[in-house]
Amino acid sequence: MAYEVTLIPGDGTGPELAEATRRVLEATGVEFIWDVQPAGVDIYEEEGTPFPDRTLDSLRRTKVGIKGPTTTPIGSGFRSVNVLLRKELDLFACVRPCKSYAGVRTRYPETDFVIFRENTEGMYVGIEFEIGSPGQARMREVVAELGSEIPEDSGISLKYITEHGSERIVEAAFQYAKEHGRKKVTAAHKANIMKFSDGIFLDVARKVAARHPEIEFEDRIIDNLCNQLVSRPEEYDVVVMPNLYGDIVSDLGAGMIGGLGLAPGANIGTAAAVFEATHGSAPKYKGLNKVNPTALMLSGVLMLSHLGEKDAAQRLEDAIAAVIEKGDKVTYDLKPTRDDPTAVGTSEFADAVIEEMGS
Ligand code: NAD
Repeated sequence: MAYEVTLIPGDGTGPELAEATRRVLEATGVEFIWDVQPAGVDIYEEEGTPFPDRTLDSLRRTKVGIKGPTTTPIGSGFRSVNVLLRKELDLFACVRPCKSYAGVRTRYPETDFVIFRENTEGMYVGIEFEIGSPGQARMREVVAELGSEIPEDSGISLKYITEHGSERIVEAAFQYAKEHGRKKVTAAHKANIMKFSDGIFLDVARKVAARHPEIEFEDRIIDNLCNQLVSRPEEYDVVVMPNLYGDIVSDLGAGMIGGLGLAPGANIGTAAAVFEATHGSAPKYKGLNKVNPTALMLSGVLMLSHLGEKDAAQRLEDAIAAVIEKGDKVTYDLKPTRDDPTAVGTSEFADAVIEEMGS
């Protein structure tokens, strides 16, 4: 049986990473029919939209996608393709395993935790009011009626957190813990300051935890969690948190396991799942056949597992781990120095993984 999967190469270094990943996925022996679809700055320049309808339609049809990174202009310009994608397909759970592999230079070799980031609400809902806009004037009026004040030189971003959104992400974290033999779920929040948004997240997390007494539960204020993750990473198992915190802690986790080139991810909803690395498009390396495809390949491992191809997932993960541990055919970021002349390129790393799977 062949799986139809939407393949979104993305932009910047995305197409090189997607091609390397496509090759190793095919080398597992699992058959794919790729529906290749555009997203990002390149298609924006051609068609005036960074996320054409046909890409979304394909994902709605195939229900499974693997995506290279896409660039988001900072401050102005179009909104993030990723935020749009997660909202349109209701991909509410962003799952990001942070596991240190043997052979990687890291101060945290014991790291093995999984981040569950709420993906559709919180600070990323995109409700913003520019200085001087009519919307902002109305916001200011409402707030004034309630006895508070927003200074006139403010930009305003709204955040909301729902009971429903909190319940399904925390429940997903507990289900994952059960299915993967994990012992503890930690909920991270800032409910001491944001009592009515993060407060809901924490209340709901406690209620969901009560339904799963076999899994240990604790909560941490987000700043304390960051401290603890780098002090005692071995104490963390599954960590669940609202959107912005999850985004930031994902990069912290990536740093702990040896860099962004190694950090995979999955965006999972009820109707579809899209697999992508934690890192961005690293545009300065575009077209250089230089960056590490491990993060997207490991996202491919998560995709295989999601498709029920557990054996292929294990073989691919083992082959990637073996190439990393041997250390000779790895990209620049996994070498002792960034200008190591023995570093291989993106496609040669893929060749090494394919060779390892065949041996
Ligand atoms: P980035 O993750 O693209 O790159 C930061 C640095 O990390 C790079 O300069 C490089 O040194 C290193 N790096 C990243 N990926 C690597 C890899 N595979 N191998 C080796 N080293 C790697 O972050 P940024 O520069 O902040 O963002 C660039 C663009 O990507 C922005 O437009 C941002 O919005 C976008 N972005 C997209 C996604 C996504 O598509 N899911 C995620 C994050 C950022």
